[in-house]
Amino acid sequence: MKDQNFLKERNARAIWHPMAHPADCQKNPPEIIVAGDGVSITDIDGHTTVDGVGGLWNVNLGFSCQPVKDAIAAQLERLPYYSIFRGTTNDLVIELGDMLAEFFAEDGLERAFYTSGGSDSVEIALRLARQYHKIRGEAGRVKYFSLKKGYHGTHTLGASVNGNANFRTQYEPLMPGCYHIPAPYTYRNPFNESDPEKLAQLCLAALEDEIKFQGAETIAAMIMEPILGAGGVIVPHASFMPGVRAICDKYGILLVADEVITAFGRTGAWSGSRLWGVQPDLMTTAKAITNGYFPFGAVMISGRVAEVFESDTSGKGAIGSGYTYSGHPVGAAAAIACLKETQRLQVKDNAAARGAQLLAGLQALQEKYDIVGDVRGGHGLMCALELVSDRTSKAPIDKATIAKIYRGAYEAGTMVRVSGNNVILSPSLIISEENIATILAGLDAGLSQV
Ligand code: PLP
Repeated sequence: MKDQNFLKERNARAIWHPMAHPADCQKNPPEIIVAGDGVSITDIDGHTTVDGVGGLWNVNLGFSCQPVKDAIAAQLERLPYYSIFRGTTNDLVIELGDMLAEFFAEDGLERAFYTSGGSDSVEIALRLARQYHKIRGEAGRVKYFSLKKGYHGTHTLGASVNGNANFRTQYEPLMPGCYHIPAPYTYRNPFNESDPEKLAQLCLAALEDEIKFQGAETIAAMIMEPILGAGGVIVPHASFMPGVRAICDKYGILLVADEVITAFGRTGAWSGSRLWGVQPDLMTTAKAITNGYFPFGAVMISGRVAEVFESDTSGKGAIGSGYTYSGHPVGAAAAIACLKETQRLQVKDNAAARGAQLLAGLQALQEKYDIVGDVRGGHGLMCALELVSDRTSKAPIDKATIAKIYRGAYEAGTMVRVSGNNVILSPSLIISEENIATILAGLDAGLSQV
């Protein structure tokens, strides 16, 4: 391997990073990660940290999941690629489709449409939603609703339903016909309501009000994350998603559950929708479907929606969407192995237990440090700290301070993810009690720097 200083210098010149300012990356070179083992990663300087981020909310089974690695290697030997556009298929996508239908049966989902990642899944789901209404003769249903603070990837349709200005402003004008509802975010919301249940009711009322204003007959779908991830782990009250489902049903609007993060056990349930007792019409998945080892995703389609497409005789049900890598056999092989390991290890149970430990530890840090304004989590391994310079005004902490906390944690052996003024924790679901303790100790060390 090349000399580390050479690589750091070249990194700044050779590549641009997602979600980062190129000039900032030149000034502050990122860590060069060269190895992963279990739930830890090692950088080019030989420094090992427990990965509190789980890759990017996706390495649910850790970095040493041999069955997935073996499945990828074997499939590369046997059939490294063939397309599943009309006319050809492969045995892997069929086996995976059956497994996914079984896995998501309780969510009422029966068919899979394969993609190459989360943004692609969002795009496909939103396109299918419009098409569903067109097939049924309601061509006027074209608008999309979503939540402020929601994150749905960065393709133009996904960015249009995103609820964070950072992913929108420089790319305007985005798609017309997208409307955003206040998120059930107790720490900050336009209603100044801190009671989760009351806030859920206020957000639901805002949703219904906007539907009436726009006209239900113009709306195709509502897309939401069961727990908002990238927006800072915003956990709605248990009444919220069932309330959204009921409103969607009342007005004939499809509900798309964006489960790119929450599917496959991260919330302590097999899906975020199931956590709240809701059956969506469409569900997006990606990330943990292959443990992050191969870019892959699937949109899961409910029986009700599938029926409309499959019984169409007009031709409108033909799917005019898809990717070269839809149903990639290597990705499908990885996903099959992943799903088997996910179920064999029942990772949702460890996610629930370790998530409770993590949340308790974060709450203890809130007691200790005034800059911890809010602690969020409570459902599996999705937690966040929101850092403020003043608890009364809730003014977000500045970038330099949060960078210092990140560095302190990193040096003490914990990788965390900083997003705005949030510190996000989403480790692998196989993580041990000891490793959660290491994450908390590292974070404590980071917070003690300021
Ligand atoms: N939807 C949600 C809820 C996500 O969290 C993400 C990524 O974090 C996406 C969509 C986009 O996925 P990808 O980055 O794989 O395109």
